[in-house]
Amino acid sequence: MIKLATDLDGTIYKGNKLIEGVKDSYENLIDNDVEIYFITNNSSQTPYEIKEKLETLLQSEIDINKIITPLNVLKKMFLNQTTNIYVYGSSNLKQFVESINLCLTNIDQADLILIGRKSELDLTEIELIKNSIKNGKQVLCLNKDLSFPSEDEELPGNGAVVKMIEDDLEITITSLGKPDLHFIKYCSDHNYNFDYVIGDRVDTDIFFGKQINAITILVETGVKNFESTKFADIKLKSFSEVVSFIF
Ligand SMILES: [Mg+2]
Repeated sequence: MIKLATDLDGTIYKGNKLIEGVKDSYENLIDNDVEIYFITNNSSQTPYEIKEKLETLLQSEIDINKIITPLNVLKKMFLNQTTNIYVYGSSNLKQFVESINLCLTNIDQADLILIGRKSELDLTEIELIKNSIKNGKQVLCLNKDLSFPSEDEELPGNGAVVKMIEDDLEITITSLGKPDLHFIKYCSDHNYNFDYVIGDRVDTDIFFGKQINAITILVETGVKNFESTKFADIKLKSFSEVVSFIF
């Protein structure tokens, strides 16, 4: 059975809109016994919320075990541990963190700072985080995506805040997203062995696919890429061309 991992934002949908041709292509792949996994760095929504969104958009039942996000990686990392954690991010993210038995605390009591994404940049909070890191607090981030595509524009992503902190403190923050080691290890621990990785970003999707020796497919429906698109094995206009490419 062919195993295909597809990115979501900019590949399957933009904001709350399915990208043209995706539904037919998805159904076609399923009919041809392709096993489809959804891999996203987007951590503002929980895997369960992504499942509901995909089910609404694709009008098809989605197995939650086929949705892989940095939140799955986080959950596995802190399984059976009691860790005090300070979260920079959405209320959904905070709820998720509590649901996996991590203990949300203020920054002074935290063993770890987790950087997610907030819809509005909070510079005061970022200063506070920087000072705490300087004073020795551990820090992780969910991904390093500088931007992500919404329905009509590119918005600053998780990585924009991460980069501000990294540049200012001259440090490297460990990320749990594509194409970073923890995400790759999560996939190898689960023996996913994807044959194809499809996405709109070279620096995340294509680099991730390369690291796991999958055939990488770059689509044009998402963000503007700063890394050379030459890194991708295949370039297609959109997800809708995937079926005719594979078969
Ligand atoms: Mg994307």
